[in-house]
Formats: sequence, C-alpha cells, structure tokens
Amino acid sequence: MRKLVAGNWKMNGLTADGMARARDLVALATATPPACEIVLCPPATLLVPVGQAIAGSGLALGGQDCHAEPAGPHTGDISAPMLKDVGCTYVIVGHSERRHEYKESDALVRAKATAAVAAGLCAIVCVGETAAERASGRTEAIVVRQLQGSLPPKLGPAKLVVAYEPIWAIGSGRTPTAQDVASVHSRIREALRDLATEAVAVRILYGGSVKPANARALTTVANVEGLLVGGGSLSTEEFWIIASACG
Ligand code: PEP
Repeated sequence: MRKLVAGNWKMNGLTADGMARARDLVALATATPPACEIVLCPPATLLVPVGQAIAGSGLALGGQDCHAEPAGPHTGDISAPMLKDVGCTYVIVGHSERRHEYKESDALVRAKATAAVAAGLCAIVCVGETAAERASGRTEAIVVRQLQGSLPPKLGPAKLVVAYEPIWAIGSGRTPTAQDVASVHSRIREALRDLATEAVAVRILYGGSVKPANARALTTVANVEGLLVGGGSLSTEEFWIIASACG
C-alpha cells in the first residue's frame, strides 16, 4: 500500500506564494520522485493554477471540502463534479474545522463523501476527538461513532481514505504518543473491517501537528499509511521533509 501525504493549505495563500510553493514542490518531486503519494489541497481560488503547475509531476490535487449536491442554488459552495472538472482526484470532507465552524454533522459529512465518490473522487474523511473526550476515555467510541455516521456506502481503498485527527492536536504543537496513535488506528482498522470487507485496505492517515521532527516516528506506527499536514504544508522545505519521511 503506497502511503499518502496530504497538504491542507486551508485558507492560506495568494497566487504568488501558492504558485511558488507548487513550482518548488514540482522541482523537488522531479529531482527525487517521492516514495509516497502526495496530494496538495490549496484553497479553491488556487485549484486551477496549482493544478496546471503540477500537471505531469506525479503530485495530485485535492479540494478542502465539497457540497453534497452536484449543482444548484448554494451560494459560495463548490461541488464534487466541479473539483473533478479542474483536475482534483481527492477531496477532504469532515475536517474538524468544518464540523465545528459550520456545525457539519456526521450525516452531512457522509452525504459529501458520497457525492465525492459519485463524482469519481477519493474522499479523505476526517475523524477525531476533542481534548475533553480524550480525557474522559471516550476517544475510540467517538471515533468509531464518527466513522459509522460519516463514511460513504462505497468503501474501497480507491474511493476512501480515513484521516484520524485529534482535534486537540491540530495546530497546537501537541501530538498523541505513538502508542495512542497505534491504538486508535488499530480500532479504526477494526471498524473498517466490520463495515465492509473491501474497506480493510483503506489508508488511514494521522493528522495533527505533524512536523519534520515527528513525521518519521508517526509514519512508522502500525496502521498509519500516511499523514494529513496543515501548518507544516505551508513551508515547502518542511513539507518535503515530512513527505520524504513517509517512504
Ligand atoms: C489539519 O488541520 O488537518 C492539521 C493537521 O493541521 P496541523 O498540521 O496544522 O496541526
């Protein structure tokens, strides 16, 4: 199973710096083709130019969210077929920032993931517990409940990636121990197996304060098949070290 490293640029980057980052990554990937698969998820305004800059480089393009409907009166939203149309092969859905800021429910995340798969995209479905949920020993129950509610009906590895992102680790500089990551990922694998046989091979990413200093340790944990990187993806140098650690 080839590992996957996804860079989520979030709401960062005007054309000049986004394009410089994309071009620098293309140069690095051309000079030393990475062992892992890399997907860049720029803000929607940069999907087309970044897609053009990375064309033919082996780097993939992804959206940060999509609407559950393919088209219609949804001001400000972007649909999965629109992402596919501009060259995306992945889309992140259910990121904790969207679950929190836009009150996205598991059912809505499932509808978005289903729309993504219907459009021919691979959905990166995010799950993860809050600090309070971890402190009360409910991490695995919360994550399994989110999976059961958020995953699309089609669960094959080409259609789905799961990202375990403890909310308290995102942007905080704190990460779970390797043992904690191993327990949650193993529980996610078990839940995927229970949901559908074809889901067993789905890649499970870890996300939350991944940096060059901890990438190797996190990516060698059992059942970690890649990383979802936020802040660390805004520096080409850091992101490349992280991706290179993910062989
Ligand atoms: C994220 O928000 O998906 C994320 C992993 O962020 P960071 O790497 O900045 O913690």
